[in-house]
Amino acid sequence: MRYYRKVLKIAFAYRKEIVLTLVLNLLLVVASLFSITVLIPVLKIIFKNTVEVTTPQAYTGLLSLKSYLESHLNYYITMQAHRYGKMGVLTRILAFGALMIFVKNLLRYLAGFSMSYIQVAVERDIRNRIHRKLLELPVTYYNDQRKGDIMARLTTDINEIQWALLASFQRMIQDPLMILLTLILMVILSPQLTVFVMIFLPVVGLLINRIGNLLKRPSADAKKAMGRLLSHVDETINAIPILKSYVAEGRAQTAFERANDNYFRQMVRMFRRREMASPVSEFSGSLIIIAIMWYGAHLILETGQLEPEVFITYIALFYQIIAPAKNISNALFDIKRAESSGKRIFDLLETEDPMRDAPDAVEKAGFERDIVLDNVSFAYEAQKVLHDISWRIIKGKQYALVGPSGGGKTTMTGLLNRFFDPTSGHISMDGVDYRKLKARSLRRLIGYISQDAILFHDTIRNNLLMGKPDATDEELIAAAKIANAHDFIMATEKGYDTNIGEGGAKLSGGQRQRLTIARAVLKDPPILILDEATSALDSESEKLVQDALEKIMQGRTSIVIAHRLATIKNADEIIVLQEGRIVERGTHAELLSQNGLYANLVHLQKM
Ligand code: ADP
Ligand code: MG
Repeated sequence: MRYYRKVLKIAFAYRKEIVLTLVLNLLLVVASLFSITVLIPVLKIIFKNTVEVTTPQAYTGLLSLKSYLESHLNYYITMQAHRYGKMGVLTRILAFGALMIFVKNLLRYLAGFSMSYIQVAVERDIRNRIHRKLLELPVTYYNDQRKGDIMARLTTDINEIQWALLASFQRMIQDPLMILLTLILMVILSPQLTVFVMIFLPVVGLLINRIGNLLKRPSADAKKAMGRLLSHVDETINAIPILKSYVAEGRAQTAFERANDNYFRQMVRMFRRREMASPVSEFSGSLIIIAIMWYGAHLILETGQLEPEVFITYIALFYQIIAPAKNISNALFDIKRAESSGKRIFDLLETEDPMRDAPDAVEKAGFERDIVLDNVSFAYEAQKVLHDISWRIIKGKQYALVGPSGGGKTTMTGLLNRFFDPTSGHISMDGVDYRKLKARSLRRLIGYISQDAILFHDTIRNNLLMGKPDATDEELIAAAKIANAHDFIMATEKGYDTNIGEGGAKLSGGQRQRLTIARAVLKDPPILILDEATSALDSESEKLVQDALEKIMQGRTSIVIAHRLATIKNADEIIVLQEGRIVERGTHAELLSQNGLYANLVHLQKM
C-alpha cells in the first residue's frame, strides 16, 4: 500500500476532479437504490398487499423508520389509487423507476468521464516525472544493464500502475459507497436478514477472494515469457543484415517460435485457470442467495416479520452488492500486485542526484584563464581508472590526449565536462572548484564532440539548432560551411529540412560527424573537447572532418583525443595516458626525442 499512497499523492493534483467523481458516484448510488426500491410499491400493488392508509404515521425516530416509511408509502398509494386507479399508479411508479435507471446510467457515464481524465492524467504526470529524472541523473547512472530496465519502467510498470492502481481507484470509491448505502437500506428493510447476511457474506467473500488470487498467479510467468519474446524481436530487427548475409533467417525464426510457443503455453494455462474463476464465484454466490431465501422464507412464513415484496426487493438489493464486493477484493489484489511496479517507479523517481548543484554554486559566464586538475583520481564503482592526474589547461592553447585504448582518455573528458566528480583531488576553472560552479553554466562554455556522433531523429536544422536555438539561417549555413557539411546537406532531398532518421541512420559516418561539428560551431564555445572524432572514418571523409576541426579549433582552447597522431603534431602539449597515468608529456618534438611510448606509437603509425 506504500506506493499506492504515493500514486494517490500525485493524483491529489486533480482533487477537483476527484471530488466531482466522488459526488457523481454518490448520486449514482442513490439513484441506483431508488430504482430498485421502486419494486416494493409495484409488488405491493400486484400482490394486492397494500393497506388502506388515510392518515400517515408521524415520524417518531430512527428505530421506527421502516414502519414510518411503509405507512407513508401505503398512504401515497391509497391517495393515488383513488385518483388514477391501480393501473394508473403502477404506470406512474414504473415511469419513475425508468427515469431513475436513466439517471443512474447517465451519472455512471459522467463519473467514468471524469475518472478517465484523472486516470490518464496521473499516468502522463508519472511518465513526465520519470523522463525529467532521466535527464537529471548523472552520466554514471547509465550503464548498459540499466537501459532496458528503465524502458520497462516507462512502459510496462506505468501500465501496471495505470491499470491496477488507478482502475482500482475508481472501484475504491464507487463500490464501497454502493455497498455501504445498500447495506443501510438492507438494514432498514430487514434487520434480521441483514444480520444473517453479515455473518455469511465475509466467509464466502473471503473464500472467493482466495480462489480468485490463486487463479491469477500464473500471469507473472506469462509476463516474463512476453519479455523474452520481445527481446527476440528486438535482436532480430537489429541483426537483419547479418541474418541475411549468413542465410540464417531459419535459425532466427526457429528461436522466435520456440519463445512464442513458451508464451502460448503460459497463456493457455492462465486463460484456462481464469475460466474457472467465474463458475466458482457464481456457485458460491448462489449458495448465499439460497441461504438467504431459506432464512427469508422462515421470517415470512413462520414469524411474520417480513413481507414478501420487501423480501424480493431485498434479494434484488443483495444481488447488487455481490459485484462491488468482488470488485473491491479484486482491486485490493491488483494494488498488491502493482506494488512491485510502484516500487520500481518510485525508486527511480526518488534517486538522489549526487551531482546536484550546491546551494551556493555560482554561475560561470566566461572562461578567463585556465582549468587546473590537481592530483585527480577517478574510479567507476570499484575500478580505479585515473591516478593522480595533474594538468593545467591554459586558455588559448591546444592540448592532445593520446595513448592506448582503455587508458582513460574518454573518462578524462567526462571529468572536464563535469559529468562526474573526481574520487579524489580537485578540478577548478579560473581558480574556482568545479563543484562550486553551476554545472549547466560550466557546460555552456564547452563544445563537446563525443567519440560516436550522437544525433537525433529530426531534421538537420533542428539537430544543428541544439547548439544555438535562436540561430538565424545565415549563422546556420555559416556553421555548416565551416564544418564542411553545407554541400552534402544541400544535396539531400529537402536540404536543411531533411529528416536524418534514427540516430542519423540516413547519413554516412563522416557526414554525421560533420553535423556534430557544425552543431559545436554554432554553439561557439571557448573550450572544445574532441574525443577521437575521426577515428572511425575512411581517409576521404577524415580529411574533410580534419579540415573542419582545424577551422573550428582556431582561437579556442582545445583538448583533442586523437588516434592518428599526425593530426596533433602541432599541439602545445601532448599528454600520453597509459592505464590511467600520465606517462609522458611535452610537445611532439620533445616526446620524439624522449624515444618513449609516444615515439613508439608514431613509429608504428608510419609503417
Ligand atoms: P579510453 O577512452 O582511453 O579508451 P576510457 O576512459 O573509455 O578509455 O576507459 C578507461 C577504463 O575505464 C577502461 O578500463 C574501461 O573499461 C573503464 N570504463 C569506461 N567507462 C566505464 C563505465 N561507464 N563504467 C565502468 N567502467 C568504465
Ligand atoms: Mg575513448
